[in-house]
Amino acid sequence: MTTNAVVIRFAELFLKGGRKAWFTARLKESLERNTRRAGPFRVREGYDHLMVIHQHATGAHLPDFEVTPELEAAFQRAFGIQNYSPCRLVPREIGVIESEVMQIADEHVAGASSFRIAASRADKEYPLTSMDLSVRLGAQVFLKHHVPGKMKDPAVTLGVHILPNHAMLSVRTVKGPGGLPVGTGGRVLLLLSGGIDSPVAGWQMMRRGCDLDAVHFDATPYTKVQAREKVETLARMLAEYQASMRLWIVPFAAVQAELRDHAPGRMLVVLYRRMMMRIATKLAVRSGAQALVTGESLGQVASQTLENLSVIEDASGLPILRPLLAFDKLDGILLAKQIGTYKTSILPYEDCCSLFVPPHPETAARLDPTREIESRFDVDALVDAAVAATEELQYGVPPVRKDPGGTLDTATTATEDTPAG
Ligand code: ATP
Ligand code: MG
Repeated sequence: MTTNAVVIRFAELFLKGGRKAWFTARLKESLERNTRRAGPFRVREGYDHLMVIHQHATGAHLPDFEVTPELEAAFQRAFGIQNYSPCRLVPREIGVIESEVMQIADEHVAGASSFRIAASRADKEYPLTSMDLSVRLGAQVFLKHHVPGKMKDPAVTLGVHILPNHAMLSVRTVKGPGGLPVGTGGRVLLLLSGGIDSPVAGWQMMRRGCDLDAVHFDATPYTKVQAREKVETLARMLAEYQASMRLWIVPFAAVQAELRDHAPGRMLVVLYRRMMMRIATKLAVRSGAQALVTGESLGQVASQTLENLSVIEDASGLPILRPLLAFDKLDGILLAKQIGTYKTSILPYEDCCSLFVPPHPETAARLDPTREIESRFDVDALVDAAVAATEELQYGVPPVRKDPGGTLDTATTATEDTPAG
């Protein structure tokens, strides 16, 4: 009897030594959450892999050596997966393995240009070594199908992995999203505009294991309600990679109007950004985020020169992470297409940062003159008023998670950290 399952191999987790169990548990959590939408699956922990098995599976529920689109989507949203193979679990007796392998070869090796048996053992007590298995099974397949064996880049790799309780057979390995499991990298706060780059920046930080929340600066009534809806759609897409995500919507029109009335037009973009930094930093501190994330890329637009970036980041005491800093615009677009945010990002929307800004904004801002302009209005009062009027949206359900050290993860304190208003 066969059972179909999917074996999941880890990305980079080998680097983490003693923390491996903790990282594996986070990946298991992601997989359990994501596969729930794809059907009644359970996730089992193996020695160097995780295995996703259909609850009632005896074959029919997963197509042989394929995964459903729902399952594929679940895996591509679980960072920490290096690759995965749909597989067949069979009893370990060599006779059973042989007949299964021959049957698989009839379907997948016959007619191919080359093949290889990739045998391995998690259980070193098994009477046959990996080499014994490869030679024995390879010879039988060759004798029947006359397909040449090839060690390097064969057309078909037939995997035979011996586990303590069964053998796992596979013919296909699919690349996963890579990275580290969400929940292992600390919390960060993304400045999410409606553009192409910031959703990509958020995705990249989640891929490095960070828990992500987002903040959007909303210039209603100067901008249309569609601009905000677009950001909510993008936030919902990003939230699919983790158990839950908060999106703070900060009313920004009053701040912008005040700056417009007191500052030279060419400085407005830098000044808007400094106000965004200050407000985002307050929200980050409340929510336990250790850094801010932006979609900025060096030289891409006038506001993104080194001079301006440094004057902008001066307004926050937190590290500003810019995963797209060295990206070409096209790199960002490619990634946005790949993760599925591009179509939403290119819907027409007005960027609050272009409000009231003349055609040639400052490209080489300096700190002292910028601070001098800011002394003309009450920065703290503007920041406090904006934070107080901030609205919080929540996607998904925050998990209750215990650190190995015993301290509670920040996600569990979500409700206490809600900004007033
Ligand atoms: P994006 O494509 O993310 O909008 P961009 O290349 O268009 O980026 P800018 O519009 O100059 O560049 O914005 C730079 C960064 O500032 C954005 O990536 C985002 O992180 C942040 N940002 C800009 N506008 C907003 C906003 N209204 N709300 C939140 N963050 C914003
Ligand atoms: Mg933009």
